Amino acid sequence: MENTIDNSYIVGTFFVSLLAFVVQLILRRRTSNSVSHSRKIIYGYNNVFKNRSDLTCGECFQPRYGSVDADVIIVGAGVSGAALAHTLGKEGRKIRVIERDLTEPDRIVGELLQPGGYLKLIELGLQDCVEEIDAQRILGYALFKDGKITKLPYPLEKFCSGVSGRAFHNGRFVQRMREKAATLPNVTMEQGTVTSLIEDEGTIRGVQYKNKSGQVTKVFAPLTIVCDGCFSNLRRSLCKPQVEVPSCFVGLVLKNCELPYPNHGHVVLADPSPILFYPISSNEVRCLVDIPGQNLPSLGNGDMSKYLKTIVAPQVPPEVHAAFMAAIDSGNIKTMPNRSMPASPVSTPGALLLGDAFNMRHPLTGGGMTVALADIVVLRDLLKPLHDFTDANLLTKYLESFYTLRKPVASTINTLAGALYVVFCASPDKARKEMREACFDYLSLGGICSTGPVGLLSGLNPSPVCLVLHFFAVAVYGFGRLMLPIPTPKRLWLGVRLILGASGIIFPIIKAEGVRQMFFPASVPAYNRASSKKGSQ
Ligand SMILES: Cc1cc2nc3c(=O)[nH]c(=O)nc-3n(C[C@H](O)[C@H](O)[C@H](O)COP(=O)(O)OP(=O)(O)OC[C@H]3O[C@@H](n4cnc5c(N)ncnc54)[C@H](O)[C@@H]3O)c2cc1C
Repeated sequence: MENTIDNSYIVGTFFVSLLAFVVQLILRRRTSNSVSHSRKIIYGYNNVFKNRSDLTCGECFQPRYGSVDADVIIVGAGVSGAALAHTLGKEGRKIRVIERDLTEPDRIVGELLQPGGYLKLIELGLQDCVEEIDAQRILGYALFKDGKITKLPYPLEKFCSGVSGRAFHNGRFVQRMREKAATLPNVTMEQGTVTSLIEDEGTIRGVQYKNKSGQVTKVFAPLTIVCDGCFSNLRRSLCKPQVEVPSCFVGLVLKNCELPYPNHGHVVLADPSPILFYPISSNEVRCLVDIPGQNLPSLGNGDMSKYLKTIVAPQVPPEVHAAFMAAIDSGNIKTMPNRSMPASPVSTPGALLLGDAFNMRHPLTGGGMTVALADIVVLRDLLKPLHDFTDANLLTKYLESFYTLRKPVASTINTLAGALYVVFCASPDKARKEMREACFDYLSLGGICSTGPVGLLSGLNPSPVCLVLHFFAVAVYGFGRLMLPIPTPKRLWLGVRLILGASGIIFPIIKAEGVRQMFFPASVPAYNRASSKKGSQ
């Protein structure tokens, strides 16, 4: 009796499987027919070129599976997109990059790469992209306040001699990375403006873009990575953007002038807010003047020149004063809003945001490129075990892990940038004044009081716990000083306000970054998923 039942199960299962197999065969034939039809339409509109050589369309698009044109579409070839294209291309992925403008950018952003970012560049095999562009080595900072100066070297003792910060023309660096990525046979770079993401039942399948000759084209891939920068038009469906613009930078280039401390970034704690200087070539110094708020003096009617000459110039170090005035007179003044936006991704199958499109912080500490490059290292390692990206659900799980794995480094750099900007701005509030003074004097103490914070800022030791400890050490140091020689009630109250003020600066930033992901990433399920995936390989 038992045997009869067993046999009937086996026969039944066999016929059902056979039927399912036949149905699947028919469906696959139909799908591939329709796919090859639609692909013909897409090819008809395409006008793709390879940077290295002209390939026929057939050669450009050898789909590995289904109707895809690549494994990954990358939108934007700025710092993140170009570095990512090379990284994933080197991993053997077929990459399609669409960049709005492939000519060399001329911008005031992304010109100082912190040593932590340089280490990531080495990890990605891109360190040669800062060679032959007249990049300048940066060994630390010099901080100026009310006539006092303190030197803050990067803690580089543990690293080999080539490791340091690098400052350069952003456009030259980006162009080197683009060229390097385009030398890979599996990376295709095209000039075009992506106008929308193609979505199908909640999954991003590719992008629609306008190519150089104005033709609207669609390309498909199982993964689209959007790196379209701080003004991203595409981020809206992939995250909940909460952009703040605390200030703007006004950029000038000072020609043929010597900085008081060669090979150092210079930060002047000016009124109303900081002024930065760093060399970007052997005969040029970048100056970035921070102006709080979003309303800048007009460039057109001369108000900006007047502001720079009357308010800013008296506060710059005397060694650069003449070059600063000449730079204003040259009329080459550029401005950029300083945006900050915590990462708040909406997990979307088939798509990922990266770089400034995903996460921004105040550029005072020059951390943006370091975060972007660190993210690319995390992503590369995370995606390594995946043979292909066709399983959208599996891919989504991996990408969710990315959001947690990147947090400790990214959120430390982000939080420090936001907090330091507030502390470094002048304020009529006495407690804030005390905090600013305490911060300068704490950093001047040297030893761990300077190497700790500079290690955080440089990306060499981006530890969230270390950040909180140093931040409150500054506040306690400021409080302690107020209690000397005797703690009067007035001074005690000022000290309390200083501590409360410090908490009011740092805690909202940490909250926006996510306390759990920042300090206890291992308690987030996605973090453990990533570890178990690695373990199982
Ligand atoms: C004033 C200022 C100064 C800064 N200074 C520093 C610094 O010294 N050090 C540092 O580390 N960071 C700095 N940053 C931050 C740094 O510039 C960014 O973090 C970094 O450039 C981010 O790289 P990204 O690739 O995301 O964006 P980007 O480098 O801006 O690249 C975006 C790319 O996408 C392209 N693109 C945009 N839209 C589309 C579209 N629809 N279709 C196709 N392509 C598109 C653009 O043409 C561009 O090439 C600064 C930022 C500002 C605002």
